[in-house]
Amino acid sequence: MGVKIKQLFFLSPITHHLSPITAFMKESFLDGHVRVVMGDITRQDVDAIVNAANSTLLGGAGVDGAIHRAGGARILEECREIQRTRLPDGLPTGEAVITSGGLLAARNVIHTVGPIYGQHRGHEAELLANCYQNSLRLADSLKLTSIAFPSISTGAYSYPRAEAAAVASRAIADFLKEETSITEVRLVFFQTDDLKVFYKNHKFDDLEQVKVDASS
Ligand code: ADP
Repeated sequence: MGVKIKQLFFLSPITHHLSPITAFMKESFLDGHVRVVMGDITRQDVDAIVNAANSTLLGGAGVDGAIHRAGGARILEECREIQRTRLPDGLPTGEAVITSGGLLAARNVIHTVGPIYGQHRGHEAELLANCYQNSLRLADSLKLTSIAFPSISTGAYSYPRAEAAAVASRAIADFLKEETSITEVRLVFFQTDDLKVFYKNHKFDDLEQVKVDASS
């Protein structure tokens, strides 16, 4: 019975009630390797959370500000050091670097810079896919097993949420086709409406279908 309720409803950590909007939605994809949840990225207990940073790595608004606030000064110190020693011109869009998680439950923070929609001459989708895949690659290179992403670029960087859902789900599914240490990719949405748009536009089901067809 407990299991059934978990499948049919989901307890929003923000509103603390069972949301009827999300009651019918599937929570996991790609054989359970991808989980889609409502929540606050700063509270995820995973090997690494991903920060939608800006190229200076010195903190900003939105999810970036929330991670630095919750994680404490150590994350910013490590970001400053990376910037000073390796990236004097900043972190390029689509690339990723890693710091410790400071005071967060997550052991590490992977910082990536999403594209600003409309400012990359049509390369936005490629750059957004790079954010997901380079973050996953970095986690995999360190043998991490769980990683949580916010919805990169869909806030201040204005990437349309429907397009971002398609790009992110394809990029993650492509990465998970290869051998990897990662067993859980958690997609964390902060607002119910963002989650609804994601559910309507992700491509995980198509990709799962392709996998089934290919194996039959
Ligand atoms: P970007 O500059 O890449 O657009 P933002 O931080 O402005 O990044 O927004 C990215 C997404 O992160 C938005 O969907 C926003 O609602 C969401 N977000 C903001 N704070 C949090 C948080 N604490 N946990 C999870 N997602 C968050």
